[in-house]
Amino acid sequence: MISPRDRFDVAVVGSGIVGLGAAYAAARRGKRVVVVDRTERPIGATVRNFGHLCIGAQDGAARAYGEVSRGIWRRLAQDAGFWLRESGTLVVAREFDELMLLDEAAHAPGGEDIRLLGPSEVLAAAPVRPEVARGGALVGGDLQVNPREAAAAIVRLLASEGVEFRFRTAVIGVEQGRVRTARGDLLAEDVIVAVNHDIDQLLPELAERAGVVRCALDMMRVAVDLPGALVAPVLTGWSLVRYARFARLRTAGALRERLHARRPDLAALDLNQMYTQLPDGTLILGDSHRREVQPDPFQPETAFDAFLEEVHALFDIRRLRVLERWQGVYASAAEEFLVEQPAPGVLVLAATTGIGMTTGLGLAETEASRAFGWQAAGPVPDPLAAAAQAVAADPTSHIPQEENA
Ligand SMILES: Cc1cc2nc3c(=O)[nH]c(=O)nc-3n(C[C@H](O)[C@H](O)[C@H](O)COP(=O)(O)OP(=O)(O)OC[C@H]3O[C@@H](n4cnc5c(N)ncnc54)[C@H](O)[C@@H]3O)c2cc1C
Repeated sequence: MISPRDRFDVAVVGSGIVGLGAAYAAARRGKRVVVVDRTERPIGATVRNFGHLCIGAQDGAARAYGEVSRGIWRRLAQDAGFWLRESGTLVVAREFDELMLLDEAAHAPGGEDIRLLGPSEVLAAAPVRPEVARGGALVGGDLQVNPREAAAAIVRLLASEGVEFRFRTAVIGVEQGRVRTARGDLLAEDVIVAVNHDIDQLLPELAERAGVVRCALDMMRVAVDLPGALVAPVLTGWSLVRYARFARLRTAGALRERLHARRPDLAALDLNQMYTQLPDGTLILGDSHRREVQPDPFQPETAFDAFLEEVHALFDIRRLRVLERWQGVYASAAEEFLVEQPAPGVLVLAATTGIGMTTGLGLAETEASRAFGWQAAGPVPDPLAAAAQAVAADPTSHIPQEENA
């Protein structure tokens, strides 16, 4: 016999950003929601990333989920009181082929959100070494959060609005109307599974059919003495050849070939050379990628050596001290998203590439309402829309302009 305290409208498995997005979507519709997680608080990919909400570099479904996510992130940041900035994304071009790809993107249909920058504008936006910056671009509309505080703040907000969290409770099975946990069963009309790469532990056949494996990343946080701040997350050519909006363009192939031919050592790490600066001034550096069903937990020092060498080559660093190193893991598959209904009333959601912070809230809002026929909860009120529109209209409004750039 299940007690009334274990009966809900919606049960969400996983308290990462996708699960929190699902809980928020359900709670906004007045549903009684429980979130179950085996850990004591969110400590998965959602707290281990760059905090870069990189909407403008996405394409297709990822772009659509990202656009929905943007409004939800803004609303949550205001209501839950965590740091979010309307930064856009700065791309630093060090070679002509990177400038060509940025130029192609800016002149493609929909390219109005990409503002090409001259060298001095790049230098005004980030303390890059003057001799390496040939130019760059600012992609408007992107956001930045501190991943270490955002999930915890969203948990507090949702809990204060009546969502129940059952932490330290492993889920061992899901079926229509029921979630089996190590502490007993819960009943719920709708069940949403958002366990990232660990889907292979809960629903192994589904994971194998979708080809889900783990992608392990090395990451590092450093204290740096720099002559200026990063106004936005910084991407390089290594990022352009990964993110769909740029990677599908005509000039991307030649750039990829050049990068790989010139730096096979970095290509072997499957490097995405990028940087975010946290409000305390420290920099997150990364990242390398290893895809396997069960990647080794041991982090070879080669990746960290490369991060340090490359950060010194790009930025005008006077002093640097390594503060932390960690491994992050996310689900990886041929498709960018896993959206499946293995049983009536059970929905499985995952970002199966490294863009879940950008897309996860929109993925959950869109797919949960579609799968369960939830009525529209009205547009997410967007308290910062005016500021965002201003940045979208002129993404470089916060960067000093270079004449004739
Ligand atoms: C190093 C790194 C850098 C990244 N950088 C970015 C970035 O800058 N921008 C971006 O958009 N994306 C980035 N990503 C990707 C992004 O972080 C992930 O896609 C996203 O956080 C996934 O969210 P999630 O909720 O699916 O997973 P998670 O945050 O991993 O949450 C899953 C939760 O499910 C729980 N769980 C699993 N199995 C069970 C079970 N059986 N019972 C109960 N609970 C269970 C886990 O304990 C966990 O809390 C990065 C990822 C990594 C690892």
